[in-house]
Amino acid sequence: MQDNRILTDRVLIVDRVSLNKAQAQIASCEKCKPDLAEILIESVLDEITGSNPASTTYFFLEPIPCPSCAEPITENSLVEWDGGVELKV
Ligand SMILES: [Zn+2]
Repeated sequence: MQDNRILTDRVLIVDRVSLNKAQAQIASCEKCKPDLAEILIESVLDEITGSNPASTTYFFLEPIPCPSCAEPITENSLVEWDGGVELKV
């Protein structure tokens, strides 16, 4: 199902395929939309990879460029999720 490589039971190396999927679900980041970016990028990856949020730490092979401002999004960034179940107005 997934092509992510698990090095340990806790750290998930996020490959380019998953990073691209994550980027496709991001609308903006905390740097360009601090009021809207309330979701940890890790939560997006939990959805994409089907991982347990409580026991998974992500390691990005490379930062994701924000689709809005092109600033690098890293493991601890907050983002605006464009593909989830968040209420939108
Ligand atoms: Zn941004």
